[in-house]
Amino acid sequence: KGKIDGHRLARSLRLAVKRTHAEQQEWNSPMLHLAQQQFLKAAQIMSLDENLRERLLFPQRTLVVTLPFRRDRYSHVETVFGYRVQHLLTMGPTKGGIRYHEDVGLGEVSALAMWMSWKCALMRLPFGGAKGGVRIDPTDLTGHELQRLTRRYTMEIIEMIGPEKDIPAPDMGTNEQVMAWLMDTYSQQLGYSVPTIVTGKPVALGGSLGRREATGRGLVYVIEEAAKVMGLSMQGATAVVQGFGNVGSNTARLLEELGTKVIGVSDVTTGLYNPKGLSVADLLQYVENNRVLKGYPHAEEVTNQELLELKCDILAPCAMQNQITAGNVEKLQCKMVAEGANGPTTLEADEILKERGIFVVPDVLGNAGGVTVSYFEWVQGTQNYMWTLDEINSRLKKILVDAFQRTRGRSEKQNLDFRTAALIEGIERVAEAKLRRGLFP
Ligand code: GLU
Repeated sequence: KGKIDGHRLARSLRLAVKRTHAEQQEWNSPMLHLAQQQFLKAAQIMSLDENLRERLLFPQRTLVVTLPFRRDRYSHVETVFGYRVQHLLTMGPTKGGIRYHEDVGLGEVSALAMWMSWKCALMRLPFGGAKGGVRIDPTDLTGHELQRLTRRYTMEIIEMIGPEKDIPAPDMGTNEQVMAWLMDTYSQQLGYSVPTIVTGKPVALGGSLGRREATGRGLVYVIEEAAKVMGLSMQGATAVVQGFGNVGSNTARLLEELGTKVIGVSDVTTGLYNPKGLSVADLLQYVENNRVLKGYPHAEEVTNQELLELKCDILAPCAMQNQITAGNVEKLQCKMVAEGANGPTTLEADEILKERGIFVVPDVLGNAGGVTVSYFEWVQGTQNYMWTLDEINSRLKKILVDAFQRTRGRSEKQNLDFRTAALIEGIERVAEAKLRRGLFP
């Protein structure tokens, strides 16, 4: 007693150094670099006010937490990093998903939050951008572990969120059930049900009809608009969809409904190719029974790289960031890239896509269906009045087609690529709001 335990001290010091190092590394992410470069490029072209440029380059608020949760086996306690970032508080409450992934960091979450700002502004939703995340591989967790982790994470960020403050939603690695636990934890603390604290929750808890498939549905609406511009008929066109999670699987299913031939799909375990067309219903059934695509019999197996390079009309990356890069962009054989994922294309690849005349539906436009129906869910919740599925889908289509037209108009008038045009469309709205509000004090 009273004596210093040298081993323990050394261990604590080692941990402290490791943690400091980790924090320094946090901002240092290729994804934040990408989001910032895209923003600066747009800012340059639109001659954005210098002060606003500086103000918008980094998020307004960031919260980094470490959180412990108990594993099932041996009751072992594990500590992981969690984040919630609010990029822009000017427009109304902040809005954005929560991502569970083993590589999540402050830089990545900040990039995603920035894109949420432009996405919401482009759609003219009354939200600023936010994002959250936990650095863990969710496929490695049991249901109980996932629930404990989610509840503890909610408690750690509870001061930052609220139905009029910041409203989370699903993203990669999270789903309706995770949103239900988040809503329950928040409601337990307040002593009454607060359904509007999250969107993307189960319909039984006040979730919106059509929210689950909204991102895929929105992407397909925008692809249809792009196809019209290109003179491409959806009926008989060919598509490759990377990723078979919520976004990818719904995109594939809805493309097939339009008569488009889905010739390639993939998930983390494998890529599948069938030049005659895959049956998406059959794939969904296979995943229902086997959890993953691997082993599906009616297709040829391909690698992720081979999948991206397949000859097709529409390539829809609906998985991870950093997929279309300087390393493979020359080998793409598609006519359109339709981004369901956030940040799948690097800056260098963007330039080459433009040179090659490949039509790009950028992420802020392509995957905005998710947050748009999240907005509908939040509105329905705050008014305690539920809409029909038809109302939801037709309003979604109207908002997306309008955003597409504005983007197209700007792109033609100023001779800009679609991504830059879409970003400027969003940033301009934010800039006007910021200037109108003025500077405090
Ligand atoms: N995580 C989705 C996105 O990246 C949806 C966010 C939301 O619904 O708030 O847009």
